[in-house]
Amino acid sequence: MRIARFTTGEDPQYGVVTGDLDEFGQPDEDAVVVALAGDPLYVGVKLLDTEHKLADVRLLAPVLPRSKVVGIGRNYAAHAAEMGNDVPTEPLMFLKPNTSVVGPGDPIFYPRQTQNLHFEGELAVVIGRICRDVPPEQATDVIHGYTIANDVTARDLQKGDVQFTRAKGFDSFCPLGPWIETDLDPQHFADGVRVQTHLNGDLKQDGSTADLIFDIPTLVSYVSSVMTLLPGDVILTGTPEGVGPMEVGDEVEVSIAGLGTLTNKVAQR
Ligand code: MG
Repeated sequence: MRIARFTTGEDPQYGVVTGDLDEFGQPDEDAVVVALAGDPLYVGVKLLDTEHKLADVRLLAPVLPRSKVVGIGRNYAAHAAEMGNDVPTEPLMFLKPNTSVVGPGDPIFYPRQTQNLHFEGELAVVIGRICRDVPPEQATDVIHGYTIANDVTARDLQKGDVQFTRAKGFDSFCPLGPWIETDLDPQHFADGVRVQTHLNGDLKQDGSTADLIFDIPTLVSYVSSVMTLLPGDVILTGTPEGVGPMEVGDEVEVSIAGLGTLTNKVAQR
């Protein structure tokens, strides 16, 4: 099931998106969104009688993390190498503020403090219930679903600062969407799921979650051994190799097989 947040110009609502995806992860023309009674994270999936053509609504970030977005750094060996870093022996955690979250189609604002703004296409885990000290074998029980993230990073600030907070924390540095897929289980596929990033139509990143150094159950377990996870918290699983700069006016698309495509443009603040 694809769970979206959307607006028709009124207050945001939750809905279920139906229809098939084409090879580029875009829904077909007949796709509709069926409205839900409230946030399914808290009230379950209760379908209403109202439906809209997907083309007639504006999708919003499918989840607004109430407490945190947890990033995982250097979780693909080839990406660690391209940055000149060793592979970590434990997951490398950082936080992005929930105010960095924006939705599909929203602008990524180029801050004046950086001269090197990078895209990082990633698979994102959305937590479904309050949990701590989750054993890896029970991780699936606490996962609500998966969405797509762009872990936007000011690379020069990341290299200059001791902490990643500024480099990863600006408003609009965490596009999420276009929806949460609750049926996808990346662990189910021996080859993982494919994560691709296109910049202005050119393929820049082409990885697979099969190459994650620390897999999803390990990440959920590790993060929850440090901090309690709440419904709607998000864990970014790391980016494959091929990260690179974005300029004002660029369009960046992150696609995940079986999930969809998250598209955003870079804008002047
Ligand atoms: Mg990242």
